[in-house]
Amino acid sequence: MAGLLRISEPSASNPTDATDNPNDLSNSLNNELLTRLATDATKDEPSITSTYSREDIAKLFDLPLMDLLLQAQTVHRKHFAANEVQISTLLSIKTGNCPEDCGYCSQSGHHRDTTKLQAEKRIEVDKVIAAAKRAKATGSSRFCMGAAWKHPSAKDMPYVVELIKEVKALGLETCMTLGMLDDQQATQLADAGLDYYNHNLDTSRRYYEQVVSTRSYDERLDTLAHVRDSGINVCSGNIVGMGESRDDRIDWVHELLKMPKAPESIPVNLLVPIAGTPIGDKVLAEGQLSVLEWIRTIAVTRICCPTSYVRLSAGRESLSDAEQALAFMAGANSFFYGDKLLTTGNASQSSDNRLMRELGLTAQYATPRAPKQVPVMDAMSGHQSQVVLAE
Ligand code: SF4
Repeated sequence: MAGLLRISEPSASNPTDATDNPNDLSNSLNNELLTRLATDATKDEPSITSTYSREDIAKLFDLPLMDLLLQAQTVHRKHFAANEVQISTLLSIKTGNCPEDCGYCSQSGHHRDTTKLQAEKRIEVDKVIAAAKRAKATGSSRFCMGAAWKHPSAKDMPYVVELIKEVKALGLETCMTLGMLDDQQATQLADAGLDYYNHNLDTSRRYYEQVVSTRSYDERLDTLAHVRDSGINVCSGNIVGMGESRDDRIDWVHELLKMPKAPESIPVNLLVPIAGTPIGDKVLAEGQLSVLEWIRTIAVTRICCPTSYVRLSAGRESLSDAEQALAFMAGANSFFYGDKLLTTGNASQSSDNRLMRELGLTAQYATPRAPKQVPVMDAMSGHQSQVVLAE
């Protein structure tokens, strides 16, 4: 599709052309933005970052929902195959008793007295491999492994490096979320061939202090910079519906655009309020965010980060088929398979398969990154070969 569809503008014969019509100002703002979107979409190499100012992002959020969905789907089809989705499976490789105090998370050791979550030690490598094989057999192209750590320790690194290599040997893409990383740890994971590293910003810089106090926004950005510098694809998203304002959601999108390069994968989570967590209890008492505002956030993310995978993660379990269909219309093209996301429920696999059939969606194949290799010359024979790093 060459460019975006134009939304109809007022005409001389249309009574809504009257200058005292209160819709005129917003129509003219919308049309200016829609024209800009149409121009951007016809460029072969649109600038991925810094194309949209904070003001532009706010205007996108304000578009009539159908205009926003139409533009988001048009941008999506310019950069991705229509009706194709990337499917991931997520496994918790170390559950609970996390030293961080994220206010939404049942795995935080700070909330264990109220959530009663049972902490578990690291899972053995062969059990992780068995889970990865099952994920591949059921259609996942990416296997994500999450550990409830502040950061991996020195003794954890050989374990996670082994997991990356074993899972990649199955032909799956690999993703990990292990907390903060320093530059050396990011390099170790990159050398092992890790495809994606997930570290969510969660929300805006301003609202962040309402969510977590044990690590700063800048520390999160530092980890993302180490991941980016190492060559691993960046996965970083948010959680909407934690009590933040639309301004916070706008600022979060703007934060992605301030990065040297937008994340390749952007999960847009809808909060699953968990009783016993501070944010979960507050949202359960005060009511949840409208699903349509979550869909708006997906659509704006798709338009602003046109080449990124926009992922549906937590929150799908409670959504109707129609709400999930709208999320795909808004440009989401990745989701998690499986009954559980770390510790929260997820849509069941059989209902996902049925929904994919009904929507006519197909699964994308895995394209794992090769581990880093270095050429080595045999001194005796002079023969040159490739050696995989980080055994
Ligand atoms: S979200 Fe991650 S870092 Fe925060 S408490 Fe939960 S497991 Fe720990």
